[in-house]
Amino acid sequence: MSRQERADREVAAGITPVGPGRPRCNTTPSGALRFTARACPFPAARGTLLTIRQIPSRGGVLSHTRTPAVAGWFTGEGDGFRLLGTRCSACASVFFPREDVHCRNPHCAGGSLEEIPLSRKGRIWSYTDSRYRPPSPYVSNPELPWEPYALIAAELAAERIVVLGQAAPGVTVAGLTVGMEVEAVPGVLYEDAETAWTVWRWRPTGVTE
Ligand SMILES: [Zn+2]
Repeated sequence: MSRQERADREVAAGITPVGPGRPRCNTTPSGALRFTARACPFPAARGTLLTIRQIPSRGGVLSHTRTPAVAGWFTGEGDGFRLLGTRCSACASVFFPREDVHCRNPHCAGGSLEEIPLSRKGRIWSYTDSRYRPPSPYVSNPELPWEPYALIAAELAAERIVVLGQAAPGVTVAGLTVGMEVEAVPGVLYEDAETAWTVWRWRPTGVTE
């Protein structure tokens, strides 16, 4: 099998080739997510050339299949949408992104880690916006003008963690303040021909789409 054939099969299998010119899928548009090199959900990170159109508005295209951009990090739709973390049975530390192997608390001997839905609402701990187009593996169409998006770090009081995420469409830094209440809502990271790849967004409470 030639090198190209092997690479093509890896792409077809959803396995991310790693090497020069083939970036590992370990960062995302928001910079908040990390993935292993296998089963990368971002096709552009697999070294393929795709025609992606930037998400111009709210909610995505309903006719597309809605598939989580990363499995196991959130669940549900609408009011039932929740981020999923894990909690250590020994020290009650909560982890997001989820930790499924061992407790990361250095003072904990380690317990079992169980999946838990995180609080739907939190308060803005910090925020900023992205005014330039990130490099690959960020998925965007370079032929379209860059549209800045806001990033929100939301503190979840019960879990005592801060979760980074993009703001909901239409929300800009001009409308944000530290301490403002936000809620996790479903959103679309990007779309390709068949699929709307879903993710979470932070949206100030009281703001409706
Ligand atoms: Zn622990």
